[in-house]
Amino acid sequence: MIKVIVMGAMGRMGRAIVQQSLASEDIEIAGCVERKEHALLGTDIGNGIILKSSIESVVQDSEQTQASKIPSSLSLPVIIDFTSPEATINHLETACLLGCPMVIGTTGLNKSQNEKLAKAAESIPIVYAANMSLGMNLLFKLAALAAKALGNEYEVEILEAHHHKKVDAPSGSALKIAGVIAEALERDLDKVAVYGRQGSHGPRKPEEIGIFAIRGGDIIGEHTAMFIGDGERLEITHRVQNRNTFASGALRAARFAANASPGLYNMMDVLGI
Ligand code: NAD
Repeated sequence: MIKVIVMGAMGRMGRAIVQQSLASEDIEIAGCVERKEHALLGTDIGNGIILKSSIESVVQDSEQTQASKIPSSLSLPVIIDFTSPEATINHLETACLLGCPMVIGTTGLNKSQNEKLAKAAESIPIVYAANMSLGMNLLFKLAALAAKALGNEYEVEILEAHHHKKVDAPSGSALKIAGVIAEALERDLDKVAVYGRQGSHGPRKPEEIGIFAIRGGDIIGEHTAMFIGDGERLEITHRVQNRNTFASGALRAARFAANASPGLYNMMDVLGI
């Protein structure tokens, strides 16, 4: 059995991960954690799971009940984190102290937070992916392939759409698509990315990679990479129909992380694509 601690368990992703974990035969929920102000802390959120306010309290409880039977190195849970960048970095410090592997789906990490993540991966296994779905990770591959095949003759624009509660833009997945295309075309994304267009910006430069974010309603996540040529346009689109696709990806990542050596992995490592 692989034990998991679900951070942000009452959030949209947290709930989907809890549901899939309960339905899974090889995943056991060691604990569910929410932010310190959450109204349901200390209550039973279903299936006898008491909502906790820290990783430490979950690990202490689990050690008290099981340490006599299972060596602690084997009982270390995988921490699954879909919360906020600040919270994720705090959880990362605790994970390093305890030696727990992590699966991180939180998006919007800044440069210094990404550096902290890479540093932590020197001591624990971390799977970090802005999008945990199989289809999207395949899109990353296909976008790189299309960019290489079509080359500089085709202009690249990326469009993403999400629900109105999403706090970061553009999405981590849109940035990743832009990143793989820029790499395939040997361009520096920092120099060629254009985030939305407004006013008198002049003609489009051929090397630009345009990135646009739509926000509204309950759209879970849609991404299109466009390769626009003279006389034709190739579009590769991925649409999420429900959050289960991310949750099952997160559990696949947890199975992988539980048995991995320290290091920073992505979903392509997990899925072997
Ligand atoms: P959400 O707001 O519904 O859930 C976040 C939860 O985290 C909330 O319940 C919040 O109370 C909790 N939280 C905040 N601080 C915390 C702390 N310190 N300790 C414990 N819990 C804390 O958001 P969501 O839609 O579930 O998305 C969460 C994150 O996951 C976002 O960054 C989103 O972009 C990302 N996301 C990633 C993927 C992926 O495949 N990688 C998919 C969907 C969403």
